[in-house]
Amino acid sequence: MTLWQPLRDELARWRDADRAVSLWLRDDDAIEPTPALDRLADLACGHDVPVALAIIPARTAPALANRLAAEKIIHPVVHGWSHANHASPPEKKQELGLHRPRDAVLSELARGLARLREFHGDRLTPMLVPPWNRIDPSLLDDLPALGFTGLSAFGHKLTSRPGLAVVNTHIDIVDSRAGNRCRDHGTLIAGLVQELQQARAAGGRTPVGVLSHHLVSDDDAFRFLADLFTITAQSGAVSWRAPAELLRA
Ligand SMILES: [Zn+2]
Repeated sequence: MTLWQPLRDELARWRDADRAVSLWLRDDDAIEPTPALDRLADLACGHDVPVALAIIPARTAPALANRLAAEKIIHPVVHGWSHANHASPPEKKQELGLHRPRDAVLSELARGLARLREFHGDRLTPMLVPPWNRIDPSLLDDLPALGFTGLSAFGHKLTSRPGLAVVNTHIDIVDSRAGNRCRDHGTLIAGLVQELQQARAAGGRTPVGVLSHHLVSDDDAFRFLADLFTITAQSGAVSWRAPAELLRA
């Protein structure tokens, strides 16, 4: 797999510096048990890689909780409330903007956390994943009072604050603007290497997040994850983290 050599080389630099890479996998938009979820769970189990599964509270039901009850590798987190868009074009889609009174948004988030707690109990990590990775930044300071101790979006814009650990994802493997095709593996690897280089330069403490969407993942996307898990295991330099570990860090 020469395609993966840049990642092998970067991981070797971490190993030579006696540093462990923290990676984590977030998968969004779960509602119910599906064959695609089974496929993700089998893959994660086979490689012992924990998954933060972002579940849409308003649209899920106990069936998913029953499916996940014995699946210790999968860690439920909160994906907004109903994944509804309240923005109007040309603005980008957003559930958690200030298009509605802030109390309406916050009370939905509180309901979402309560509903998933009811279904998943202690297995739920109180991390909010905003739909489309967008949330009005002024809402962040209100999240700890609702019971959220973590937030995860995409990129580097949002950062941690007292009571709220922000743990983002940085590599999005499915291209929603290209009919949900998996992005070119070489491009994804280059992006991951760049993030790891930045994290290394910054002292190595920031976990690098990979984002997937099992419901729209094709064979190519699952193959990318399988290869990534294999390469990272071979390197001996990578720890794949569960979301609760990231919030404690
Ligand atoms: Zn989503």
